[in-house]
Amino acid sequence: MRQQKMLSLGIREVISEGFCIGCGTCTLKSDMAKISFNRSGELVADIQACSDAEVASMEVVCPFAAAAPNETVLAKVAFQHEENAKLGQEIGVFTGLYAGYSNIYRKWGSSGGIVGWLLSQLLITGRVDKVIVVGKSDDDQRFFDFKIVDNAEELKATGTSFYYPVSYDKVLQYIIDNPGRYAITGVPCFHKALRQLKAVNPLIAERVVYQVGIVCGQMKSAFYLDYLSRKTGADSPPVTACFRRKDETARADDYLFEGSFRTASGEFEMRSVRNREIGANWAMGLFKPRACDFCDDVFAETADIAVMDAWLDQYVHDGKGTSLVVTRSSVLQAMLENGKLAGELELAAVSENDVVDSQRGGLNHRRVGLRYRLLLDGRKSLVPVKRVQPSNRIDVWFRLEQRIRSAIREKSRLAMRKQLDSGLGGLRVYESEMSRVLGLFKWFGRVRSRVAGRRDYKPQFKLDI
Ligand SMILES: Cc1cc2nc3c(=O)[nH]c(=O)nc-3n(C[C@H](O)[C@H](O)[C@H](O)COP(=O)(O)OP(=O)(O)OC[C@H]3O[C@@H](n4cnc5c(N)ncnc54)[C@H](O)[C@@H]3O)c2cc1C
Ligand code: SF4
Ligand code: SF4
Repeated sequence: MRQQKMLSLGIREVISEGFCIGCGTCTLKSDMAKISFNRSGELVADIQACSDAEVASMEVVCPFAAAAPNETVLAKVAFQHEENAKLGQEIGVFTGLYAGYSNIYRKWGSSGGIVGWLLSQLLITGRVDKVIVVGKSDDDQRFFDFKIVDNAEELKATGTSFYYPVSYDKVLQYIIDNPGRYAITGVPCFHKALRQLKAVNPLIAERVVYQVGIVCGQMKSAFYLDYLSRKTGADSPPVTACFRRKDETARADDYLFEGSFRTASGEFEMRSVRNREIGANWAMGLFKPRACDFCDDVFAETADIAVMDAWLDQYVHDGKGTSLVVTRSSVLQAMLENGKLAGELELAAVSENDVVDSQRGGLNHRRVGLRYRLLLDGRKSLVPVKRVQPSNRIDVWFRLEQRIRSAIREKSRLAMRKQLDSGLGGLRVYESEMSRVLGLFKWFGRVRSRVAGRRDYKPQFKLDI
């Protein structure tokens, strides 16, 4: 019965059940498909005006629809010509694994600036004509969005991580309208959607020559930007914002949110708040779209390269930031090696074990926790088909934590909506709505560590297929 429910998740149900991540690939299939913000600050597709034939053609390009091949299948096809490729049970296909940073782009980068450096090299060496990255948007609705960049200098302003909903909708149309070779950044589900699109759209397949993966633990809704801005004490929306301003004297994970705000007298002031003060939001899953609770790809397994933070003891103490890198393309791997020889990159080989260890939190949630959420939610609603099977074979502490996290995720969307609708500044309405569930989470964490201690779920990180 459950399997039947999973298999019937078509694109219409992806949207109605809250699994749409707003990637925008479906908009290439119909002019009537639109991506816009919902009441929870998430970018989602609206395909109500599309014909049945158009909707049917969208099924194969939606990363969450039942018709989508999984990441393992897509990666096998994408990297079939890579002679030195290995298959990691947790991280997918890889040709090389590294830790390091760019001596130049690290300053602007989220971690080691490896992505910024790589994109600049792709442009400088003429391997691509343009790169597609995220930056401040000119659109009134979207604060950040994908944009086209054709010079390495401009890349410095588009480094760092954008914990904000973005969509490929406009840039895909740009690629169709403008011949050339492109490299494009994206979180894992966006790359999956792009691989699916490439399979049915030869123009996109020919023009998007490099997919640069940003490892992803979870996305945030636009409410996160409102929340952080208000946390700084600002009483107006930001003019510019950076989710990861580095403090080079602190640990790499103790970065700041920084925004510039217009004061009543018309001047600009910078305000910031430390990740340490809000850090637990990552574990709690505040403002996280539901799709992220039903996603098993942490390492952007279908991208030509995946880059993440080096959340390992030997690197995390360096506030300047270090990246971990999974290469899946021998061309990109050779570029990195050459960058090292030229003295532009500091790079050291790391093990598969190191890469897995660096993402323990994400893998706990997206492999072990996902099995339980598939079971729990699959009883009452449609859920996507995943590479792990529904299961409750995990200790009661872990199961309880999943239930509390789901409640926090859902409650945070409603509470922030209420805060915004109230028209009041600050976060008083939000905090009052959230106090019980956040109190429960903190109390549970204390009791759990006293009674159950720390448990290691690493053996369950592997996929079931
Ligand atoms: C939503 C999100 C969740 C993440 N979760 C994790 C995690 O759980 N664990 C982990 O180790 N790392 C995570 N990262 C990745 C990490 O924050 C860094 O992006 C990564 O280490 C690359 O750093 P860098 O210094 O090499 O790249 P940079 O030189 O900073 O370049 C990053 C590039 O990615 C682009 N970019 C930024 N945000 C987005 C986005 N949302 N979509 C598409 N492109 C984007 C930028 O425009 C820039 O071109 C996450 C990133 C995002 C955006
Ligand atoms: S293709 Fe992307 S935007 Fe369209 S419904 Fe699926 S997840 Fe949403
Ligand atoms: S967690 Fe998964 S679904 Fe959510 S944004 Fe990241 S890759 Fe996409």
